[in-house]
Amino acid sequence: MSTQSQHPETLALHAGYRADPATGAVAVPIYQTTSYQFADTERAANLFALKELGNIYTRIMNPTTDVLEKRIAALDGGAGALAVASGQAASALAVQNLAQADDNIVSATDLYGGTWNLFANTLRQQGIEVRFVDPADPENFRRATDARTRAYYGETLPNPKLAVFPIREVADIGRPLGIPLIIDNTAAPLLARPFDHGAAVIVYSTTKYIGGHGTSIGGLIVDGGSFDWSLAPERQPALNTPDPSYHGAVWVEAVKPLGPVAYIIKARVTLLRDLGPALSPFNAFQAIQGLETLPLRIREHSRNAQAVAAYLATHRDVSRVIYPGRQDGEARRRADAYLKGGYGGLVGFELRNGHDAGRRFIDALRLFYHVANIGDARSLAIHPASTTHSQLSAADQAATGVSDGYVRLSVGIEHIDDIIADLAQALDAAGKARLAA
Ligand code: PLP
Repeated sequence: MSTQSQHPETLALHAGYRADPATGAVAVPIYQTTSYQFADTERAANLFALKELGNIYTRIMNPTTDVLEKRIAALDGGAGALAVASGQAASALAVQNLAQADDNIVSATDLYGGTWNLFANTLRQQGIEVRFVDPADPENFRRATDARTRAYYGETLPNPKLAVFPIREVADIGRPLGIPLIIDNTAAPLLARPFDHGAAVIVYSTTKYIGGHGTSIGGLIVDGGSFDWSLAPERQPALNTPDPSYHGAVWVEAVKPLGPVAYIIKARVTLLRDLGPALSPFNAFQAIQGLETLPLRIREHSRNAQAVAAYLATHRDVSRVIYPGRQDGEARRRADAYLKGGYGGLVGFELRNGHDAGRRFIDALRLFYHVANIGDARSLAIHPASTTHSQLSAADQAATGVSDGYVRLSVGIEHIDDIIADLAQALDAAGKARLAA
């Protein structure tokens, strides 16, 4: 059976690996090695010249990591992937692979805070300008574009607003101009298939749902293989002009025999080689373990979150529930167009009694963990106004979608009755403390 016709549940367990050739091991072994014996000098020369693909040094590739890369590429319908040390490294390399000093990209304003900092400060200091636009109107991307725009960037399901990104609309603006859309799909793996809607590149923090057990930091970049990087060569100079760091290779030409993988090979053999954020083989193994049950878990996260959203909507102390399945208008249309089989595990809500109620609620939780994380199998909660967003002014907090009483839940896969019981007792405790005050 060709893997192309297999379902996600099957690919998650089988894609990219069928028993270890050396030992027959069924579980993917952890190849904890830095380097690899070359069969002979000719083979070594071919590997360095990219005439053959194979193992050279674990900073650039590793057999355990290779399975993770092949598996995510199969699941997303991409041509190839690159694993890196964190989601942050994935976002940084995905952009740096195309944009150089004096170039720009256009990004949605609705971003994970770490990505925001990377874009607003670190990339800017390196000479790459990030132009932030409101994704509610996809035309904002076109308006911010100029001759040096190298990519568009957005998150499928950004929190705290949980307003799904207009993937097709923005991809369609970029494609004829030679501008690829990079999508961070961390919060909606498997539920969203950004390549089906025109995205060129997907990035993930595997730290979240893919790993799923809160044990290991990691990231992935996936190349959809369908973007025409040479449609407008002047638009993508990094892939269309000789690269002095790799004996003058013009990437769109140099790797043609290997398939439509110019973007991802360049990221591996230049940026990963030079900057060095390699994923450890052990963390690749952990991400593979997570991936194997992701189809089951993401369904359960979604089911539980839907029930939590419904419960919260009936509670007297909750003034608003933020959840893709409860939105209306254009936001809901996008949620339904891009999320299939569930709306994901994230739920936001606002407590009527503001900041103090938010803190009291968090302090009263017994089952939910109070952490700055999402996507763990366990249920997690945070009060952004007193933690992740506390450095922002009230106006900036509001612009990001955070109010005083906003609570973010990453709903886990415990039994739904236990999840709701914990929320109920914490809401009760937050309400009682207010009455006593
Ligand atoms: N993208 C999103 C949507 C995230 O939520 C995070 C982390 O919270 C990242 C990227 C960064 O990932 P990492 O923490 O693995 O570097």
